[in-house]
Amino acid sequence: MRASQLYAPTLREVPAEAELISHQYMLRAGLMRKSASGIYSYLPLGIRVLHKIMEIIREELDKADAQEILLPIVQPAELWEESGRWNEYGPEMFRLQDRHQRHFCLGPTHEEIITALVRADVRSYRQLPLRLYQIQNKYRDEIRPRFGVIRSREFIMKDLYSFDRDEVSAQESYRAMYDAYTRIFARCGLKTHPVEADTGAIGGDQSHEFMVLGDAGEDLIVFCPDCGYAANVERAECAPFDSAGEQETLAELEEIATPDVTTVEELTRILKIAPGRVLKTMIYLADEKPVAVLIGGDYDVNEIKLKRAIQCNQLELAGAQTIREVTKAPVGFAGPIGLGIPVYADYSVERIVNGVSGANKEGYHLRNVNIYRDYTPAAILDLREARAGEKCVRCGKVLDQARGTEVGQVFYLGTKYSMPIKAHFVDQDGQEMPFVMGCYGIGVSRTMAAIIEQHHDEDGICWPVSVAPFAVIIVPVSYKDDEQRTAADGIYKILQDAGIEVILDDRDERPGVKFKDADLIGYPLRITVGPKHLKEGYVELKLRSSHTQLLVSIDDVKDQVESILDRIGE
Ligand SMILES: [Zn+2]
Repeated sequence: MRASQLYAPTLREVPAEAELISHQYMLRAGLMRKSASGIYSYLPLGIRVLHKIMEIIREELDKADAQEILLPIVQPAELWEESGRWNEYGPEMFRLQDRHQRHFCLGPTHEEIITALVRADVRSYRQLPLRLYQIQNKYRDEIRPRFGVIRSREFIMKDLYSFDRDEVSAQESYRAMYDAYTRIFARCGLKTHPVEADTGAIGGDQSHEFMVLGDAGEDLIVFCPDCGYAANVERAECAPFDSAGEQETLAELEEIATPDVTTVEELTRILKIAPGRVLKTMIYLADEKPVAVLIGGDYDVNEIKLKRAIQCNQLELAGAQTIREVTKAPVGFAGPIGLGIPVYADYSVERIVNGVSGANKEGYHLRNVNIYRDYTPAAILDLREARAGEKCVRCGKVLDQARGTEVGQVFYLGTKYSMPIKAHFVDQDGQEMPFVMGCYGIGVSRTMAAIIEQHHDEDGICWPVSVAPFAVIIVPVSYKDDEQRTAADGIYKILQDAGIEVILDDRDERPGVKFKDADLIGYPLRITVGPKHLKEGYVELKLRSSHTQLLVSIDDVKDQVESILDRIGE
């Protein structure tokens, strides 16, 4: 490809809308343009990178006995009603009607469609296991699209679904996909960390996320540098505390007037106590029934854990009206003593001796509140958000934390979808059995952004060879000069004939402009054809990521380029 014909409109300025480096460089290097909030058009260089990533995905999945298909983007509501997710999915789902007022959605995911497909055609255990995947656009109407393609409303995803006859076989599929993902991301030049994850809207009971660590990440993960345990904070388990705190004698319960004091911060300031001594009491509606959650004042409730621990479908913080009915006081004076609703306590509460809580009475708190003497929780559970400094549940060492971006996720679904929509096969002994399923996603457009986050410098992107839009760029200092043009054209032809993806910058631009564009776009290898070295029959090779330069005789260019690309491509 000649640069004079390449549609790659580069920008010198950093676009104001782009916070993340990857977002900035994708716009500046002319990989994509915004069409609407969270919706992008990919330009030639962008789509070339995406195709490279997709090819790596295809090769590794095909090796793992998966088969590619293509499912519809527009999906009928009936299937989603069968699985119960038409209502459950909420406002993130793009919904539409056809001219006959029939309801459809733009697929946010494809479990329903594929399960229905397989239900119709796969009847016998002999046809299993089956691993089917597609690479396609997905739609999620994010409340706040941001970070370019990292959180967008239309994005490219690879999704794979596995169908097995039993749990043992389904676990093998899970393992095979986990291993394929490890290879896919490594080949894309990405360092990823598999972490235990919550299963969220997809459901199921086992999941790993492949995270790319970095300050720009939207997710918070905790990990143990000692044993390798790592989990999303939504999911991370917290250990009970060793001892019951300081050995204090239980003091007498005492009511204290605290007019207008309704937050933990105000309370700790006025009473001069540590937040860890406050028994924070939160009132929730769990499936519309009020419950209280008691947690140390220095912690936050993890609502995902709470929902799972008390097994409710709908969970929300109670409003002022409910709080008044339940506590007989306005917001800010709730406490565990004498509440007529179930009180669930976090582990952090057990060690609080002579704590402070609301008195369930306007303008009052209680001092010296003690568990079991003054109140008894319905259960003591793991309800708090994990954080750095806590004990690892696996080995007891201290946890650390980091931010990360999820590029892939694997779910073990079991029979969550096959049971409700009656997707059955006939087993060896003639029994009708539901498929045991798994589903596996990779954010393809997001993977491109994550690669840029890990491979860039202040001048632009430094693509790994495996996903670079072109491997080599030839930059003649002046293409108008006869000698330089002849040499550059010659090298261009030799490299093209050798099957190397190469750009020739034949534009009538100053050398500085050409070098800046080459660095911004991030071709792994640059060949500079300049008057000084050309006299002796040499050109200059420069590696984008290491800035290494070497002079190479024109006769050796092809061999040198091939061996360098091989070496840095490993
Ligand atoms: Zn550990």
